[in-house]
This record gives sequence, C-alpha cells and structure tokens, in this order.
Amino acid sequence: MFKKFDTIDELKRIVYMWLLPIITIALVINSFLNNESLFDTIVNTTLIFWFSVSWFLVYLNLAIRFGEYSNLLLVSLYHVTTLFDVVHNDLAKTGGSLGDFIVWIPLIIMFFFLVLGTKRGLYFSIIIFSITLGIGLMYSGKMPPESIDSLTQFHAANIVYILVLFYAQNIFKAFTERDFFKKHAYIDSLTRVANRHQIDVWLEEKLEDADEDEIPFSIIFFDIDHFKKVNDQYGHKIGDCVLKELSATISGNLSEGDLFGRWGGEEFILINNCTGGQAYEKAEQLRKLVENKTFKGAGSLTASFGVTDYQPGDNIDSLLNRADKGLYTSKNSGRNKVSMN
Ligand code: GH3
Ligand code: MG
Ligand code: MG
Repeated sequence: MFKKFDTIDELKRIVYMWLLPIITIALVINSFLNNESLFDTIVNTTLIFWFSVSWFLVYLNLAIRFGEYSNLLLVSLYHVTTLFDVVHNDLAKTGGSLGDFIVWIPLIIMFFFLVLGTKRGLYFSIIIFSITLGIGLMYSGKMPPESIDSLTQFHAANIVYILVLFYAQNIFKAFTERDFFKKHAYIDSLTRVANRHQIDVWLEEKLEDADEDEIPFSIIFFDIDHFKKVNDQYGHKIGDCVLKELSATISGNLSEGDLFGRWGGEEFILINNCTGGQAYEKAEQLRKLVENKTFKGAGSLTASFGVTDYQPGDNIDSLLNRADKGLYTSKNSGRNKVSMN
C-alpha cells in the first residue's frame, strides 16, 4: 500500500487498477437501482463497457495513454451531456434539483488533473466548467428559483473542487521536491553514500548521546594510499570508479549501527558503536577488505586508517583531529596500516 513508486506512470497504473473496477461496479449498481431513461442507459452502458476495456489495457500494461485519453473524452462527454440532459429535460421542464450524478464531480475533476497534470488539468477543468456554466445560463430564464439555487451550488462546488485539487497538486509537488532535495543534500553524488553534511549531523547526534547518556562510540577515518597515482596512471574516470567500488564494498560489509560516508576526496569515515580493541579490529577488517579487493581498471590498492574512541568533552573537531593523527601515523609508518589514537 505504501510502496514507493519510481515513476508517475507506475503510480497511475496502480490507481487505475483500483479505481476503474470500483467506478464500473458503482455504475452497474446505479443502472439496476435507477429507473433510467434511454439516454442514461446508453451513457452508462458505454461507460461500463469502455472502463472494462481500459482496465484490461491497464492490466496488460498496454496502450495506457490511449486508455487514459479515451476515458478523459468519455468522462468529459458524460459530464457535459448528463448536465445538459438534467437541465434541459428536468430542471427547465419540471423544476427540482440536479440529482445524484453530482456525487461524481470531485472524482471527474480529479481524473482531469490525474491525466493532464497540474496546469493542463486546470485549463481543461475551466473549459469544461465554462461549458456547463453556459448550459446553465442558457436555461436560467426557464427554471424555477429552487433549480437555479441547485445549479448555482453545483457551479460553486465545481470551482471549489478545481481550486482545491489545483492547490493540492502544488502542495504534493512541493512535498515531493522537498523530500528530493532533503535526500540529495545528504548523499554524495558520486558514490551514493552519505556525504560530509550527513556525517556532521551523525557526529552531532552521537556526541549528544555520548555526553548525555554515556553511550560510547568510535570513528574510523581512512584514506586510499597513493590515490593520485591511480588518477595519473589510469585517468580520472577510473579513479571515480575506484571510489564508487570502494564505497559499495564498505557499504555491503557494515554491521548494525555502523554509519558510513565519504568525508571528501578519497577519505571516508565509519562511525560505529565499538570502542578500544574492538574498534581497532573493525578497522583491521576494513583494511584487509580493501587490500584483498581487485578494483576494475586499477587492480590492487590499499588504504591507511586512523581510529579514535569518543572521550568526554569531545566535539567534532577534537574527535576528527585525533582520528586524523592516527591516519597520519599509519601513512608515516609505511601505509596500509591501522593506528589507534
Ligand atoms: P596518500 O594519501 O597515500 O598520501 O597519497 P594520495 O595520492 O592519495 O594523496 P592525496 O590525498 O594528496 O591525493 C588525493 C587525490 O585524490 C588528489 C585528487 O586528485 C584525487 N581526488 C579527490 N577527489 C576525487 C574524485 O572525486 N575523483 C577522482 N578521480 N579523484 C579524486
Ligand atoms: Mg587524501
Ligand atoms: Mg590518499
């Protein structure tokens, strides 16, 4: 039910799969319950037939656009002709109110927006609204006051539905865009792992938990050895692939509670809940993982590691400085090493 959809078309398909049978059943029930005129019978039967055909097209994932637009045409015709029929044959002759077809109005306008999108949906809704308004005005001289009241309410409700749906679409769009930017603000565009901004947020949270609830943690800071040579020897593109491959490998070997991201360039950070010897062991495992991997186009590579535990009174800078010193020690003692600081 709350599955995320990759494309609007995929989402629309699911909506039609559910919506079309429900509307078709409602129309069938309506045909049985009402003592219908010939006009109603023709309209209902056409709709039932075509909605069933469209459902099959949607089910088979075939000609969905064609199904959508043919339904749009049919629904618009239904809307306009039914209103004309009621105004011409009932309101102008015997008076009374519009009857139960108006319950479909919100759904019809929603369908306009669903098929045509926000802007075109708005324009199309206004055109259809203008036609129905024209029909009402044409017959206004022949109708008793109660029918004019009913028709005025119908048009007022139409405007409200159009505006609500138009703004609702804009609101949903704004939510979607906000989610998109929020998600991308925290993700490194090359490697698709967390970026420096996300790591900063994680570290703030970890420091707060450690200060307030004494929950310990450590950070493992690492840097690929002689990465400049990879770029120089094989080119920047291969260098990028190495960064992606390394990120994917580490991401695939994380334990529960591990937080991993790219700090920048060819430097990465893993925040984890182990401390002391266990944190050192974890870094050793990562070091071996890199050492034993063959990178596409670049072959074997190594990385140097600096590990540090949280200490009371730490802030992000003090923590990173200690980890960086550990990394520096590893680089100075021949690289492909882990140093605790
Ligand atoms: P060492 O760390 O072992 O001391 O040597 P190094 O060659 O790795 O040293 P350094 O940190 O100075 O160089 C890192 C290089 O990484 C420099 C830069 O061109 C390259 N680099 C940084 N970001 C990217 C990137 O996104 N893609 C590629 N291809 N290269 C990058
Ligand atoms: Mg570096
Ligand atoms: Mg390096």
